[in-house]
Amino acid sequence: MYDVGIIGAGPAGYTLAIRLAQKGKKVILFENKYVGGTCLNFGCIPTKSILHSCSLFDKFKTCEKFGVTAENISFDFQKIYERKNTVVEKMRKSLEKLILSYDVDIIYEEAFIESSEKIKCKSGTYDCENIVVATGSEPAEIKTLKRNNFVLNSDDILELTELPKSIAIIGSGAIGIEWARIFSSLGSQVYLIEMADKLLPTADFEVSQRIERILKRNKVKIYTSNYVEKVENNSVVLKSGDKIQAEKILVATGRKAVLPKNNNNNTLETSEKGSATVDEIYKNKSGVYVIGDASSKIQLAHNAIHQALYLAEYLCEGKIPRNYVIPSVIYGEPEIAWAGKTEQELAGTNYKKFLYPISALGKAQSDGEIEGFVKLLSVNDIIAGVHIISPEASSLICEFILPIQNKLKISELKEICHAHPTYSEGSFESILGLCSEPLTVMKGV
Ligand SMILES: Cc1cc2nc3c(=O)[nH]c(=O)nc-3n(C[C@H](O)[C@H](O)[C@H](O)COP(=O)(O)OP(=O)(O)OC[C@H]3O[C@@H](n4cnc5c(N)ncnc54)[C@H](O)[C@@H]3O)c2cc1C
Repeated sequence: MYDVGIIGAGPAGYTLAIRLAQKGKKVILFENKYVGGTCLNFGCIPTKSILHSCSLFDKFKTCEKFGVTAENISFDFQKIYERKNTVVEKMRKSLEKLILSYDVDIIYEEAFIESSEKIKCKSGTYDCENIVVATGSEPAEIKTLKRNNFVLNSDDILELTELPKSIAIIGSGAIGIEWARIFSSLGSQVYLIEMADKLLPTADFEVSQRIERILKRNKVKIYTSNYVEKVENNSVVLKSGDKIQAEKILVATGRKAVLPKNNNNNTLETSEKGSATVDEIYKNKSGVYVIGDASSKIQLAHNAIHQALYLAEYLCEGKIPRNYVIPSVIYGEPEIAWAGKTEQELAGTNYKKFLYPISALGKAQSDGEIEGFVKLLSVNDIIAGVHIISPEASSLICEFILPIQNKLKISELKEICHAHPTYSEGSFESILGLCSEPLTVMKGV
C-alpha cells in the first residue's frame, strides 16, 4: 500500500512526489512518456533553449555598434535543435535520478483510476491511500484545421528538420509570441493572427501595444481581430479576406486538460471545458486530488509546482492551501513579465499609475537595451499590478510578488536599497515614481 499514488510526472507530479517523500511518505509515480512532462520535454525548456540561440544570433547581428566585429554571422538550424534536444535529455536524466534518490517508485506506463484508492496500469493494480492526478494538458486543436505536415501544433514545431521560409502563427499568447520571436529572429517571414483586438490578449494594454511595435520592427505581419476562415491550397484565408501564403501554420491557441482515459466512466467531475473541477484543497468530487494543468485555469509550470507544494503540506500536515500571486512571463528579447491587475481591469477605481522608461537607466544605456518600461499600478498605497518589458524581466517581477501578496505599503518599499547600475533600479524608480519622487525623470514629465 502506497501513501500516495501520482499520475503524471510533469512539474506538478514530480514536485509533489519529491516533497511527499521528503516528508516521509511512500510514493508511487506513473508516467506514460517522459519525466518532466510538457514543461521539460515540449514546453518551457526546449523553447527557451531555442530562444537563447536566437538571442545570441540577434546580439551578433548588432555587435558592431558595440565595437565588436563578427563576420559572416550565420546559424545552423539543425544544430540549434540538436542543442535543444541535448539540454532536454540531460535535464530529463538528472530529474529521473533526483526523483529516484528520494525512493519514489516510478512506473513508466499509462495509468487509469480504478477507484479513489486504486490505480491500474498494464503491470498491475496499485493500492494508494490517496490518489493525485497530475496529467497536465495538450495543445488545443482548431476543428477546421486538421493537423498534418502543413498545420503544426506546439509539439510538432519542436520536430522541424529545417527552417520554414514563412510561417503563419495562430494565437498570440505566450507560446505564439515566443515562436514569432524565434522565427523572425532566424529570418522567416512571420504572420501572426489573433482573434482579440490586441496581441497578448490578457496583458496590460500598454504591454500589448509595445510588443506589437517590437514585432513589427522585426518585420512580423500582424492580423488582430482576425481568424483563419479556411485553408485553400496551402494558403491561409482570413476572416478579413486577407490571403497568406505560408510554408507552415503553427496553431498556438491554448491548451486543454488531459485526464486519465477511462474518465469516460465519469470518475472525475469536469468543467464544460473538460478540465477537472477541484475545491480549495485540490480535491475532485470523486475523492481524488487534481493539480497542475489538468485542473487549473492558469496553465503555467510554476503554478503547477506551487499547487504541488501546498498539496504536500495538506496531505502531511493538514494545512489548507493559501492564495498566492502568479507571475506571467514571455521570453525573448526583451522579456515581458507581469503580475496582479492590468490598467484596464482597474478602470473605474481610484488607482495611481507610474510608467518608468528603462531608457533612463545607466545599465540599459550601457547594454544598448533601451526598449521597455516598468509600469506600476497602485490602489491605496498598495501595488495592484506591475507590468515590465525589460531585459531580466523574468527575475525583476519577483521583487513585486512579495509586496503584492503581502499587501506591503509602497512607502515601505522605498526603503529598499537597489544596486547600481542594474535593471532593478527601474523597479526602484517606478516605486519612487508612484510616490511622486522619481529621481531620473525630468521635472514636469
Ligand atoms: C511551448 C510551451 C512553452 C511553455 N513555456 C512555459 C514557460 O515558459 N513557463 C511556464 O511556467 N510554463 C510554460 N508552459 C506551460 C507548462 O509546460 C505547463 O504549465 C506545465 O508543464 C504543467 O505541468 P503539469 O505537471 O500540470 O502537466 P504536464 O507538464 O503536462 O505533465 C503531465 C504528465 O502526465 C503524463 N500523463 C498524462 N496522462 C497520463 C496517464 N494516464 N498515465 C501516466 N502519465 C500520464 C504526461 O505524459 C505528462 O508527462 C509552456 C507550455 C508549452 C506547450
